[in-house]
Formats: sequence, structure tokens, C-alpha cells
Amino acid sequence: MKTGIVIKAYSGFYYVKDDEQGGIYECRLRGRFKKKKKRAIPGDRVGFQDLGSGLGVIEEIFERKTLLTRPTVANVEQVIITFAAKDPDLHYKLLDQFLIMAEAAKLQIVICLNKIDLVDEEVARKMLKLYEEIGYKTLYCSAKTKVGIEDLRETLKDKISVFAGASGVGKSALLNAVQPGLKLATGEISEKIRRGTHTTRHVELLQLKDGGMVADTPGFSFFDLEFLSSEELPYLFPEMVDYIGQCRFQDCIHDHEPGCVIKEMVENGKIAKSRYENYVTFLHEIQEKEKQE
Ligand code: GDP
Repeated sequence: MKTGIVIKAYSGFYYVKDDEQGGIYECRLRGRFKKKKKRAIPGDRVGFQDLGSGLGVIEEIFERKTLLTRPTVANVEQVIITFAAKDPDLHYKLLDQFLIMAEAAKLQIVICLNKIDLVDEEVARKMLKLYEEIGYKTLYCSAKTKVGIEDLRETLKDKISVFAGASGVGKSALLNAVQPGLKLATGEISEKIRRGTHTTRHVELLQLKDGGMVADTPGFSFFDLEFLSSEELPYLFPEMVDYIGQCRFQDCIHDHEPGCVIKEMVENGKIAKSRYENYVTFLHEIQEKEKQE
């Protein structure tokens, strides 16, 4: 049996890239999967039978390491959270929201600041300083002047990545700078997903010349917090993790409780106020949802 990765799924056909030769096989699923209502999705690692002439049958779907929904992709390893230094302005609350969703999905995280040609370099570097201090990997790029593109190419190498970020920040332009010809799908679709309208969008994993793949999604531009619990939330802020459990009350949720060590750290500057404020905003949103359940 051969092994490979599903790069595209379409009306019952699965396009599988063979691990050994790199050829693409058009596969069907073995009938027993259908009985179990199990499907393969892009990113799935599979075992398949070679039927000749580029055709195959998927016999096995291996366990998924990660699973992203909206849109659905398996085994994504890394997310490139992209913002622009200007046009549009950096939206820090959205950045924090992307970060917690990526933390929750257990992805490797890279924050990429694009369009740095529009501001002074010093200004650009200050914009993500806080996030570097927390320990996040950052990239400073311009798809226009090609600054930082080599670093981005290196970051994408040999991994399965997705881009996240609002439309207009330059995700398509960046990918095209990394490898001319590669295109993300248009932003329109993510608007549809955002509104919950039915969409037949099919994700495709684009292959990078240097190794690695990128999902052609226009960007995971919208995450909602419905899958998170209030207890889990502090763990998604890396700078808070060390202090969890040190508060006066064991069940401290770091909001209004007295003797809260996290709040103390905010007061003495060890945790950034902006991050803490966004934590509280997200916490209240989640608590509101939990009340309704
Ligand atoms: P996406 O919606 O995130 O995929 O954004 P696009 O790649 O479509 O880019 C949105 C707009 O920003 C386009 O007009 C691009 O030409 C422009 N743009 C993208 N990257 C840069 C950059 O590095 N510098 C400048 N000045 N403009 C850029």
C-alpha cells in the first residue's frame, strides 16, 4: 500500500500526493468509509491502493494531529497570522483573538507584519515588540519591496501552513512573492463562511517548490470563541501560564477576585495591560455563552 496526503477533496474524489514519487492520484474512498459516514479531508494522511493510470482507492485514513474547521483542513502545523503595518491599521484585539484560537488549535504560530514599506522600520519593529517579549516568532515583510520574503519562504519550508488575517493585509501578495503563481482563493468566500451561509468551497493544499504546503484559504479571518471554556482561556496566554494556580483562590478566573496574582503582574508591568484587557473581554464573551447553555 502507498501512503500520501490528500491535497484536495471534490465530489467524492480525493487527490492524493504520493509520498514517494510526489505524483497525484485521483482516488475514491473504500466503501466501508461511506458506511461509517467517514470522509477524508484535505491534509489527511492516507494509505491507498495504486490502481494504475493515476487512479487509486483510499484504504486507510491515519489519525489527525490537528483539525481546523471553517474551512476544514487536517494536520495543519503552522499558522502565519498576518497583519499590515498600515492600510489597514494593526488591530490588536483581533491579533489576540487569532493568537488564542491558534494556541487552542495547538498550532505553531508566526506573526507576520506585512506592508512595512509603508512605515519606518523602527516603527514597524515596535509594533510587535510586546509579542516578541512574550516569545512569539515574528516576521517583518513587504510583499511590495520583497523585504523579509526569504525569511517567510524559510518559515514555510517543509510544513503545512495556513494564513490567517483580515482581507486586505496582503496574504495573497505575500504568498505570490514567496512563489510567483501561487494564489489564495478570493476573500469573498470567507465572508460567506462568516455569515454561516452554505458554501461549497473546496480547500486545496498548494505545494511549495522548496517543500511544504499552504492551504489556499483566503485566510481564517474569523474565529469565534464558542469552542473555548473560561477555565481554558488563561492557558492560551503564554505569559499568564506560569502564574496560574498561584492566586489566593484556587478557582480564580483573574477577573474581579481578590488576591489574584495575574492582576498583580499586570499592575507591576510583567503582563501587558492591553493583553489582560483583551483577556477579560474574551472571558466575558465566553461566560455569556456559557450562561446560555
Ligand atoms: P489579502 O486580502 O490579505 O490576500 O490581501 P492582498 O494580497 O489582496 O493585498 C491587498 C492590497 O494590499 C493589494 O492592493 C496589494 O497590492 C496591497 N499590498 C499587499 N502587500 C503589500 C505590501 O507589502 N506593501 C504595500 N504597500 N501594499 C501591499
